[in-house]
Amino acid sequence: MSPTSHQQAQAARIARELAALGFALPGTLADRMTRCGYANCRCHADPPQMHGPYHQWTRKKNGKTSTRILSDDQLADYQPWFDNHRRLRELVAELEALSRAIAEADPRWNR
Ligand SMILES: [Zn+2]
Repeated sequence: MSPTSHQQAQAARIARELAALGFALPGTLADRMTRCGYANCRCHADPPQMHGPYHQWTRKKNGKTSTRILSDDQLADYQPWFDNHRRLRELVAELEALSRAIAEADPRWNR
């Protein structure tokens, strides 16, 4: 098991970026237009004028899908945290692929 100096440099770069990442919120953000429950509302007219857009945050919580609506100022505050989480997942995937390549190149397999 001997990572090349290039592989060691890659791992160090990933670790540096992970350490600098900050807060990370999981889930997906989507802007949604909705209809309400009032049959006389403009959102049920023809053509309909839907409500929104609402910033909908969806994520898994204890195996169940959870949805919350963020205000505009909440979105402004938390958008970087969602971006950080996406980057976190990319960096973890990169570190896993790098580690797998090193392990698979180990000459001691099948010995
Ligand atoms: Zn409505």
